[in-house]
Amino acid sequence: MLKTPVFLLITFAILSACGTSPTGRSQFLLMPESQMTQMGLQAFENIKKETPADTGTSRSRYVNCVAQAITREVGGRWEIVVFKDDSANAFALPGRKIGVNSGLLKVAVNQDQLATVIGHEIAHVLAHHSNERVSQQFAVEQGLGLVNALSNPQTGTGRTLMGLLGVGAQYGILMPYSRVQEAEADRVGLQLMARAGFDPAESVKLWRNMSAAGGAQPPEFLSTHPSHSTRISGLTAILPSAQQLQRTAQQQGKRPACKP
Ligand SMILES: [Zn+2]
Repeated sequence: MLKTPVFLLITFAILSACGTSPTGRSQFLLMPESQMTQMGLQAFENIKKETPADTGTSRSRYVNCVAQAITREVGGRWEIVVFKDDSANAFALPGRKIGVNSGLLKVAVNQDQLATVIGHEIAHVLAHHSNERVSQQFAVEQGLGLVNALSNPQTGTGRTLMGLLGVGAQYGILMPYSRVQEAEADRVGLQLMARAGFDPAESVKLWRNMSAAGGAQPPEFLSTHPSHSTRISGLTAILPSAQQLQRTAQQQGKRPACKP
């Protein structure tokens, strides 16, 4: 039997590990999507065990109204949970899970600002940012072991993985996304919320609220999402095209009216 030359195997491994982000950036993605999904589901279970959910209230109906308008643009069935937690934070996970802390509503004060955060978080998932981060730290053959490690988030590997998935706050591990990933999530997220009919101009106000809420104890969201004035200028630069998307959406009858 002929042996496959090692360099061919390596080339294959590298080629199969490459992906392209929604903005056209080439990415190194080692983990199979199915495994990222499993990890997302496990991480969501961990959070549900720790934090009480807010269900059947006008607040959870409001958050669901905003999130569903956005997920409708993405497709698939997403689970949206409001957590009773005073810290201003939100997240989305592979496996179509969205979590919004009740405390976020003090900073994101209307449906368009909330849509900005949810759109941004979903964009991190659509752009496979946690896969990129896990791929930088772990080898692919550890894949299944990683899912097991996550089922015990108190361990070192479990905590690290919660951090890489962007949900480490509960476990005291905050891992900011890279600037490149943040800029990408801002851009893709803004397009997403605008396509759902929300007002993209509110995104700039949201980031100003976030900065103002800073002070001694900045919102958790800011700790994992470094705030730069470049973010606001980046958003301002793409605002006209996002506003065009919103006009088109509204002409199609997409006029979300979610009441806090
Ligand atoms: Zn982000």
